[in-house]
Amino acid sequence: MTTPLPPAAALRRIAFLLERAREPTHRVAAFRTAAAVVDTIGPEELDRRIRTRTLTDLRGIGPKTGAAIVQAHAGEVPEYLARLEEAHAELVPLADDVAEFRATLRGDLHTHSDWSDGGSPIREMAEAAIALGHEYMALTDHSPRLTVANGLSAERLERQLEVVAGLNEELRPFRILTGIECDIHLDGSLDQTDELLDRLDVVVASVHSDLRAESAAMTERMLAAVGNPHTDVLGHCTGRLLIPREQREGRRQRPRPESAFDAEAVFSACVEHGTAVEINSRPERLDPPLRLLALAVEFGCTFAIDTDAHAPGQLDWQGNGCERAVETGVDPDRVVNSWPVDELLGWTGR
Ligand SMILES: [Zn+2]
Ligand SMILES: [Zn+2]
Repeated sequence: MTTPLPPAAALRRIAFLLERAREPTHRVAAFRTAAAVVDTIGPEELDRRIRTRTLTDLRGIGPKTGAAIVQAHAGEVPEYLARLEEAHAELVPLADDVAEFRATLRGDLHTHSDWSDGGSPIREMAEAAIALGHEYMALTDHSPRLTVANGLSAERLERQLEVVAGLNEELRPFRILTGIECDIHLDGSLDQTDELLDRLDVVVASVHSDLRAESAAMTERMLAAVGNPHTDVLGHCTGRLLIPREQREGRRQRPRPESAFDAEAVFSACVEHGTAVEINSRPERLDPPLRLLALAVEFGCTFAIDTDAHAPGQLDWQGNGCERAVETGVDPDRVVNSWPVDELLGWTGR
């Protein structure tokens, strides 16, 4: 991307590329904050601030972000952005067959905003999805029980539905699909009211607790969730974590092995009930593992290749899932998020 962008867009692009390069979050946040400041003050005030060299007097704008604003305002590509774009272009590209597979995807069915444990407002997530060429994005913030991830109560989810409806008016033809990443309780029931689950476009059901349970109990729990008529996608089925990860408030999670369950029983239930198996693209998850993914392919499952993004730059992680889909021979037509939105909603409303 070498065309000059308006200042706020240039700052957001910088944040996006920094995040992709896994730069520290405070550096990414500095550019997002500055973009929000530029949005707030409006073009005339921005113009005046630049003329009078008082830009950095504004709270949230420092020397680096200020320089990028001045250059973008002058119709140039900010130096900082140009350097990032150059480094970005040198990243190893996806193999041709993987890139081709990825190009069939129209959206993402598992994303989080700052309403639960994501780092960014819904709008920023949607704008990043649009920038990636997506047609839709299911917003799937956590359910009430997951208090560590600021899960949404029924009341907050109701409010979120109103916010999403408003954003959809503005962002058309892009579509934010309403949704939830719903905890699967120990007894296999879902952690939200039937009435709300019924109103949502996409329900991803995931196990987040008691991951070390015995295989028989875990299998029962997963079978109940997969067979629940509200469930559309079975999220990160084994729950494994390959590398440690940072969470909110400095919490750190250690790697953990796969949960034990009868994968044949669970995958055949997925086929029976038309529930898609998620191919989770997060680098620390890459779930299911290849041997289970191959098994799901053999059983004839449908799939959703999702990023589980908690920040806008992470929406770009679908290549990870596509690599694994290609490796295990997933048919792109069996990937629900390669379907046009109407077809997708026909399936989720089944
Ligand atoms: Zn999850
Ligand atoms: Zn998630």
